[in-house]
Amino acid sequence: MAKLARKVAVVTGASKGIGAAIAKAFATEGAKVVVNYASSREGADAVVQAIREAGGEAIAVAGDVSKAEQAQGVVDAAVAEFGRLDVLVNNAGIYAMVPIEQVTEEYYRRTFDVNVLGPLLTIQAALKHLGKGGSIINISSNATTLLPPTSAVYAGTKGALEAITGVLAKELGARKIRVNALLPGVVETEGTRAMGMIGSDFERYALAQTPLGRIGQPDDITGVAVFLASDDARWMTGERLMASGGFR
Ligand code: NAP
Repeated sequence: MAKLARKVAVVTGASKGIGAAIAKAFATEGAKVVVNYASSREGADAVVQAIREAGGEAIAVAGDVSKAEQAQGVVDAAVAEFGRLDVLVNNAGIYAMVPIEQVTEEYYRRTFDVNVLGPLLTIQAALKHLGKGGSIINISSNATTLLPPTSAVYAGTKGALEAITGVLAKELGARKIRVNALLPGVVETEGTRAMGMIGSDFERYALAQTPLGRIGQPDDITGVAVFLASDDARWMTGERLMASGGFR
């Protein structure tokens, strides 16, 4: 049987990259999926079309997760369209490598707003609908163990997200809602290409340090996400699962 049959999932930042791959994998496993995006309507529509062509169900919903009303709108759209909510993947995130001298208040605030406040607001919104068996998956990063130079703000946001994951696993356990973090290593996405990571010295370093000997692709992350969303992971909460080819 499909691992996510009868489940309804919201995947934030699913118009491209890791989020798009997770949305498609969830649909393949039987979930009905809300494909959230901030500005890339075309990307989100393409993900929805691919899911529908494969026989699945999905809708695209715009919303900046760092704004409370919009985060609520994204979650409410899932319930309005599909009648319930079982899984929330907080994947939307932004990143850049910025030397400490160049960190600005604006960069700090925007990164923490999207990567930390965004998941908090989206979880708050989702809790109005998530019931027993609900699963929240926060996409962190192996940057929280590597602590690479020039990642002070980004690694700081993901460290905060992992702390939030641990706290909420305890806070929501009584309601039988699980909260886990998934930590990808370097993955080739629109985002990592746009920031120049792919082809950079950092990519070469990552490759040399990765036991499995290549850079990750979005599909390398999806199996772990499906597992955490599914009832196979019903006895796991507050965990940090790394999917990085061993790069840590
Ligand atoms: P990406 O290719 O840049 O895609 C980012 C996605 O997030 C897009 O769909 C974007 O939507 C959406 N987004 C950005 N800001 C948003 C907001 N305020 N509200 C709603 N959606 C928003 O990124 P990625 O590389 O796939 O990374 C996805 C997640 O994995 C991030 O949390 C990242 O930190 C984490 N991660 C990535 C890597 C990696 O190597 N790629 C490694 C570890 C962790 P629009 O297209 O509409 O702007």
